[in-house]
Order: sequence, then C-alpha cells, then structure tokens
Amino acid sequence: MGLLMIRCPETGRAVSTDITVSREAFAAMPVFFSRSFCPYCRTTHEWFAKDAWVAEAVTSSRDPGDRRVA
Ligand SMILES: [Zn+2]
Repeated sequence: MGLLMIRCPETGRAVSTDITVSREAFAAMPVFFSRSFCPYCRTTHEWFAKDAWVAEAVTSSRDPGDRRVA
C-alpha cells in the first residue's frame, strides 16, 4: 500500500492526496479525475489519474521525481 501522490503544477513538488491505495489497485483503476488540496499553493488542484503515482511507504522525504506507475 502507498499514498497516492500528484505533482503540483505550480511548484513541481510532490503532493499527497491522502488517498491510500495499492500499486496494483491503482494500475487497475479506470481513468478518473479528482481534486486535492495543495499545501504549497494553499489551493486545490484538479488532477487526472495519469498525473498521479503511488508512493510506497517509507519514502518520507524523498521526492520520487517523475517516476510513474509501471
Ligand atoms: Zn500546488
């Protein structure tokens, strides 16, 4: 299981969506659309599943960069 992450379009930083999902479940999801609050911009960003990735636990301060769900 991991946290679903998105990239902030304004700052380029990884933002947690507070959605916990397994990589397998995420890969099996149909394309979807959601919104998440961004602590860097203090606003809500709209995002698509293709822009999100699963951050496995214990990667705390490490920014996963442009790594995508395989
Ligand atoms: Zn932002």
